[in-house]
Amino acid sequence: MDCLFCKIVNGTIPANIVKKNELFTAFNDITPQAPTHILIIPNKHFTNMAEVANSDPALAGEIFRAAGEIASENGLESYRMNVNTGAAAGQSVFHAHLHLLAGRSFAWPPG
Ligand code: 5GP
Ligand code: ZN
Repeated sequence: MDCLFCKIVNGTIPANIVKKNELFTAFNDITPQAPTHILIIPNKHFTNMAEVANSDPALAGEIFRAAGEIASENGLESYRMNVNTGAAAGQSVFHAHLHLLAGRSFAWPPG
């Protein structure tokens, strides 16, 4: 399958990997929207996080667990986890991912 994030998981496309295990890969976003902007993705291909949660709830939990662990390891007290689902919500890569953003103030409601 021609998927950018699958290529990051299998190493065909380089990325700045923050953390990886047999279930997820976490790497720095190429266009960071905050001083810390990390993407956490399942190693297995799913179109979006809802699909992960439906097919494998434990894997969805692992993605969120990993995000919290990375935040904690980096001393981040305030951070935003963001999941864009569908093009109108801002999803541009259709391999499930969780954004972990930190290091600046964030507005609410989001734009
Ligand atoms: P989405 O818009 O789908 O929620 O998020 C996709 C994210 O992937 C964007 O923040 C974008 O900057 C990031 N991205 C797109 N292409 C690459 C790439 O080749 N490498 C990395 N590290 N991030 C990418
Ligand atoms: Zn993929």
